[in-house]
Amino acid sequence: MSLTTSIVRRPTRRVLVGHVPVGGGSPVVVQSMTNTDTADIAGTVAQVHALWQAGSELVRLTVNTEETARAVPVIREKLDALGCNVPLIGDFHFNGHRLIKAVPECAEALAKLRINPGNVGRGAKKDEQFAVLVEAAARYGKAVRIGVNWGSLDQELLARMMDENAKRPQPHAPEFVMRNALITSALDSARRAEELGLPSDRIILSCKLSGVQDLVKVYRDLASRSDYALHLGLTEAGMGSKGIVASSAALALLLQEGIGDTIRVSLTPQPGESRTTEVQVAQEILQVMGIRSFTPLVTACPGCGRTTSTVFQELAQNIQNWLRSQMPIWRKQYPGVETMNVAVMGCVVNGPGESKHANIGISLPGTGETPVAPVYVDGHKTVTLKGDHIAEEFQAIVEDYIQQTYVSQKNDTQ
Ligand code: SF4
Repeated sequence: MSLTTSIVRRPTRRVLVGHVPVGGGSPVVVQSMTNTDTADIAGTVAQVHALWQAGSELVRLTVNTEETARAVPVIREKLDALGCNVPLIGDFHFNGHRLIKAVPECAEALAKLRINPGNVGRGAKKDEQFAVLVEAAARYGKAVRIGVNWGSLDQELLARMMDENAKRPQPHAPEFVMRNALITSALDSARRAEELGLPSDRIILSCKLSGVQDLVKVYRDLASRSDYALHLGLTEAGMGSKGIVASSAALALLLQEGIGDTIRVSLTPQPGESRTTEVQVAQEILQVMGIRSFTPLVTACPGCGRTTSTVFQELAQNIQNWLRSQMPIWRKQYPGVETMNVAVMGCVVNGPGESKHANIGISLPGTGETPVAPVYVDGHKTVTLKGDHIAEEFQAIVEDYIQQTYVSQKNDTQ
């Protein structure tokens, strides 16, 4: 399956975050954030490694105490020893200036510093504390994300803009002023960072809100007012299907307009759920939109009265899980396999048709149908499976197809 997309990416400046390019026409980058205590070095290393294995290309972690700042270079070292070179981003709030001064090795170990202009300090200290972080980034050659969040918007700026609005002959709605304040905070902070010596190609902006329509309005406006690379995400998206749907709706609308150079899906994990779900969802948003491919996707029908057993659901789920679990190996061994499409269909009503559009497709027997499962490979029926081992035999066919179709890097180098 080839990628077909009419999306024209909005031109932005290219920023190198460690070895990962963001913006300037580079592929949209998937990032994630840990929820471990960064001072728990073993736990954080394990989670960053898992996020990276799942496909996260940048990982952010909290730096909120001197202990966590001291942990960052150790975490970097341990990840490197595991062969995990994912760039790390430090998330600083309130005391970042103090931590960077006390532990400069922390800044050195990071690829990017995230600074929230609303949480950097109050009154006269704000500019001074902002400067400490920006100057550290400039000194060590690091990128900076100026990450504005409506939950921590600079209250002095908002109050000033509300006052100015109230004096207008026809004041704007408060929501309009609030959205404008978010953008102003980001752009003013970026200008200030440049004045402090940080090159514009080391600056990424974000303005996150938790409402889909507000986020879309803000990013459209932000994109039209600057050419900084943009980090895109719906903040506090929530848990489960609500969080996934809200993030997908917001990100899809903006990505379709070419807005967004790096994305994060901010899901609240359900109890016991892996943190890597946010990476999987971000990848799936990009893949179903035809923007990037990460893992072979399974097309499956929803099932209906013709599928009265669970065999069909189990096969669809097992094949998708198996394909995903193999990707850390296949990504290197079989480049291009991530674009493969597999169809698992519940009966012959739409099964053969959908199977022909996939690289490989199977139609399981529906209720009352002959208990056979025709398999299509590249649009042609190749075999009809029957008996108790249809799932295993179909998986073997998929594996064989991958070995035959995608160039094995292992063989090439022999
Ligand atoms: S393909 Fe068959 S089983 Fe699947 S939804 Fe359509 S009719 Fe139902």
